[in-house]
Amino acid sequence: MKHPVKVFKFGGASLRDADSVKNVASILQGYKSDRLLIVVSAMGKTTDALEKVVAAHAGKTGEAYELLEGVKKAHYGICDQLFDKNDEVYAAVNDTFVEIEWILEEEPHDNYDYMYDQIVSVGELVSSKIVQAFLNKMNLPTQWLDARDVILTDDIFREGWVQWPETEARCEKVVLPMIEKGGFILTQGFIGSTQENFTTTLGREGSDYTAAIFSYLLDADSMTIWKDVPGVLTADPRLFDNVTKLDRLSYKEAIEMTYYGAKVIHPKTIKPLQNKSIPLYVKSFKDPDAEGTFISGEVEDHYPPMIAVEQNQALLQISTRDFSFVAEHHISYLFNFIAEMRIQVNMMQNTAISFVMCVNDIDDKVERFIEKIDDKFKVILDRGLELVTVRHYRDDLIESLHEGKIVMLEERLGNTVSMVMKKVPMMKRKI
Ligand code: ASP
Ligand code: MG
Repeated sequence: MKHPVKVFKFGGASLRDADSVKNVASILQGYKSDRLLIVVSAMGKTTDALEKVVAAHAGKTGEAYELLEGVKKAHYGICDQLFDKNDEVYAAVNDTFVEIEWILEEEPHDNYDYMYDQIVSVGELVSSKIVQAFLNKMNLPTQWLDARDVILTDDIFREGWVQWPETEARCEKVVLPMIEKGGFILTQGFIGSTQENFTTTLGREGSDYTAAIFSYLLDADSMTIWKDVPGVLTADPRLFDNVTKLDRLSYKEAIEMTYYGAKVIHPKTIKPLQNKSIPLYVKSFKDPDAEGTFISGEVEDHYPPMIAVEQNQALLQISTRDFSFVAEHHISYLFNFIAEMRIQVNMMQNTAISFVMCVNDIDDKVERFIEKIDDKFKVILDRGLELVTVRHYRDDLIESLHEGKIVMLEERLGNTVSMVMKKVPMMKRKI
């Protein structure tokens, strides 16, 4: 069912301190007469900080409380600048942080990923409480929605997959009455819940995806991601010169770019939007009136070269212990584990006796995978690599990207070149 709702997403960078929260409120003043569903991430680098709390608790380093104290202090510091001393928001924030303290009082849970989700999700919960309270204070009536009451996932923690039919039904039940009430609705990105009501997360940077899920469920008029960059750029300006903003982009191009690691939008974001032809705007919260990038189904067949760089890549060269060919049944054996462990494979190739793949090297997933296949396969592992993908490439550009790098694996498909690369180690020089 179509609803006259716009979905906005504000990420951590747009909520990193009191001034940025005020800036978000002032942007929203301009949309007072719109029906908005607003998705917020954790403030600033809170997710990274909470990840450290989880690691400290799991590793029993004795630092978990102190690390949590740091996170709390940062949030109370922001509240102090936005609210009066006796504002109700303090109790709300406190009650949310207490959830972590309860976990820290217990022995670390055996399931790291489960514990991770219970702790890290608090970043989004607290952020949403603070922003909602501030919007109300600024005369922008805003209802708080617990995203976990809507987004149902499977129980793979840290990488929850949305269970669409149930999520759709819950949305009808929970969100529609809120829309009818009027005003803004504000909810958390990144989090969901299992059938048993345990909190899950959707994968790092998953708030964009949450906004797309809600856009899809409500068949929203449009979705807007507010970023600290002017829109979708042809490459990361921290890594490349001469970067330009793209004014328009097709869904297909956006999916391809984000799949290969363009960090501007979470890769899962586009599909739900494309399914219902919902346009996506990427705009700057620093310059809200500027045009940004408009992403839609319209086909544009002419793009400049665009570069995406994905760090933390591992290359696995897998061969059978008995030197037999790597045949289909081996590959299917390997992929069973890959699917089960939700390892993201970015590139693969097979030769007579080996199967090579480049994957995202997250935590100890690669080690665990190698352990699982160890009885049948030998693995040569290379880590710390980067995957550089160029769409609409020019040969001279590829040439220049090779400088100072060793190309371990390269693939050319149509207008796309992907390269797994390693920095050339510094040679010993004579003095
Ligand atoms: N706060 C989460 C993260 O930093 C989700 C997000 O920001 O999209 O990964
Ligand atoms: Mg973010």
